[in-house]
Amino acid sequence: MRLSRYFLPTLKETPSEAQIASHRLMLRAGMINQTSAGIYSWLPLGLRVLQKIETIIAEEQNRIGCHRVLMPTLQPASLWRESGRYDDYGKEMLRFRDRHDREMLYGPTNEEVITDIVRQYVKSYRSLPQTLYQISWKFRDEIRPRFGVMRGREFLMKDGYSFDINYEGAKASYEKIFESYLVTFRRLGLTAIPVQANSGAIGGNLSHEFQIVAPTGESMIYYDAAYDTLGDQDMTLARLQNLYAAADEKHDPYNCPIPLENVKTARGIEVGHIFYFGTKYSKAMNLTVQGPHSETIIPEMGSYGIGVSRLVGAIIESSHDEDGIIWPTSVAPFHIGLINTKIGDERLDKIAEELYQTFQKQGFDVLYDDRNERIGVKFADMDLMGLPWQVVVGNKTLDQKTLEIKNRKTGERQDLSFEEGLRYLHHHLGTL
Ligand code: ATP
Ligand code: MG
Repeated sequence: MRLSRYFLPTLKETPSEAQIASHRLMLRAGMINQTSAGIYSWLPLGLRVLQKIETIIAEEQNRIGCHRVLMPTLQPASLWRESGRYDDYGKEMLRFRDRHDREMLYGPTNEEVITDIVRQYVKSYRSLPQTLYQISWKFRDEIRPRFGVMRGREFLMKDGYSFDINYEGAKASYEKIFESYLVTFRRLGLTAIPVQANSGAIGGNLSHEFQIVAPTGESMIYYDAAYDTLGDQDMTLARLQNLYAAADEKHDPYNCPIPLENVKTARGIEVGHIFYFGTKYSKAMNLTVQGPHSETIIPEMGSYGIGVSRLVGAIIESSHDEDGIIWPTSVAPFHIGLINTKIGDERLDKIAEELYQTFQKQGFDVLYDDRNERIGVKFADMDLMGLPWQVVVGNKTLDQKTLEIKNRKTGERQDLSFEEGLRYLHHHLGTL
């Protein structure tokens, strides 16, 4: 991508309405634009990140045998009357009527729709277990939308739903998702702590929230200090089952299994939430299947959410510095920012142009800053956008035939020959 032709409205001033770093940085880096309270457009740079996160989530869901569907955002109130939730849900649900005066709503979640689909087709225990998921926009008329995409009114969510013939099956489905979430968040460059949670309005008796520790998080969590020293490979269900962590509402200080000196308190950003709720929806909505002895079975269900758009903010909250964002490679909008320090110098223009072509041919995502801008502005914008690698062509390129390669995270700079530089980038980006 050539920056001179891109749609990247970066801001020099810090937007006054933004209270936390991720919101400020997303506005300043031209990733999002607010349309109304809690409702955002995703601009090209922001959309690239959102789509990368979406892809990783989908890959991990597919890997464990979940099947992707796409349900409508608009739902009939009648389905929610069947489950009994229509009157319970409250003002967060956006309700309206269509031209035929039918009551409709913009889906805040999809248990009713998926249960309606499954009851139409699944008639035998042989068709189960089954887990279906989608990645789609939800609307919740939050009383206080804030922190940009962290608490929006319209937001992108991955929601999955499992159907099993008994409790053991449902628990196995739940645990499969639990483990898969640990892998998913790790691939996104995050360490998520799974905490025991209240199941809230959805109801049920087994539930975990996945929390990213960050001072700006809206939840309060209590956890065993041992979490802080766990390596990636220790983050498994088996290992974590013996470690306590709970969200505010669920934590009882008088019955906490952690020795007092090991209790850690932190603020957390909830990026995922999983529930087992048994036959709550299947029973209310008459979903039954026939068992092996022709008996009637009411399937046991679970639902599994990930806040896809919230994750963009959460990743920035846990990875930025005073100059801007620091993207983990897996979700970076581009791998490399190529900076030509002297646009208009024929020799440098030619070198930068060739390098831009070579990077693309070799499979790198590269953003080439070919703008006729002051060099200070170019460096500042590059740091703000947070691409993992910056490649600078300038005087040294002409004198010594080298490229300056800067690691955005560590700030480390190296002068390498063209050939070494390419090899170095391939090595670090895992593209060779
Ligand atoms: P919260 O406690 O933050 O209000 P929730 O418990 O109501 O969230 P769930 O129903 O569990 O949310 O939704 C699944 C996931 O969707 C959450 O874990 C969160 O990451 C994300 N999410 C929920 N509400 C919002 C929102 N208003 N804006 C952005 N993401 C959200
Ligand atoms: Mg929740």
